[in-house]
Amino acid sequence: MSKAKILVIEDEADILELICYNLEKANYTVFRAKTGENGIALARTQIPDLTILDLMLPGIDGIEVCKKLKNDTLTAQIPIIMLTAKIEDNDIVSGLEAGADDYIPKPFSPKILLVRIKAVLRRVKNQGKETVPEIITVHGITVDTVRHIVKCDDEEVNLSATEYAILKHLAQNPGWVFSRNQIIDAVRGGNYPVTDRSVDVQILGLRKKLGKKGDLIETVRGFGYRLRSRDKKD
Ligand code: CA
Repeated sequence: MSKAKILVIEDEADILELICYNLEKANYTVFRAKTGENGIALARTQIPDLTILDLMLPGIDGIEVCKKLKNDTLTAQIPIIMLTAKIEDNDIVSGLEAGADDYIPKPFSPKILLVRIKAVLRRVKNQGKETVPEIITVHGITVDTVRHIVKCDDEEVNLSATEYAILKHLAQNPGWVFSRNQIIDAVRGGNYPVTDRSVDVQILGLRKKLGKKGDLIETVRGFGYRLRSRDKKD
C-alpha cells in the first residue's frame, strides 16, 4: 500500500517541525510549505491526499488558501484540516464555509491530529460508496437503517420521516459538525420540504422524543449540530 501524502502549510517553524515529525513517524509522506503561495503550488504539483492548513499565515491567509484550493478543479477534492489559534466561532465558521473538512484549535496534541487525519482520510475514502451500516449504535441510541426503527436503550421511539433522516445522518458520523445546509442536503428527497429554520424545529422535536438522550444532539453555536462523539463520556 502506498503511503498517504500530506501537505502541511504552517509558517511557524517549530509547529511545522512538530507536525511533520509526527506525520513522518506515522509513516506519511510529508510536504512542507511556510506560505500559502508555496502551499498552493505544492498542492497543484503533488496532489496530496490531505492538507493541513494554518489559518494565520503571512501573505494570503488560510481562509484564502482554502478557497483557492477548493475552487481549483485540480485540488478541489483534497480534504483540508484547518489549524486555528483563535477558537472564535467566526473563524471556525469561515474555515468550514471556505470548504475545510475539519478544524483543530491550537494548541493541539500530535495524537489528536493523527486521529483526526485518519478520520478524514477514512471518510473521504468511503465517500460515494453508500456503505450505510444496517445498525448504527451511538450512546445507547440504535438506528436500524433497514427497518427504519430507532430505539433508545431498547425502547422504540416514533420519529417522523424527517427526524429519522436527520438522526441517521448525525449518527453515521458522530462527533462531526453539520451545518443546517448540510443537514438539509442529507435529508432532501424525503417527502418533507426542509428549510433552514425548520432544521432547528426538527432538531427540537428530535431531542424531545429522544428524552434523556436528547442532549446528545449538541448545538455548535453559529454553525450547526452534531451527535456527541463516541469517545466522549456520557
Ligand atoms: Ca501561523
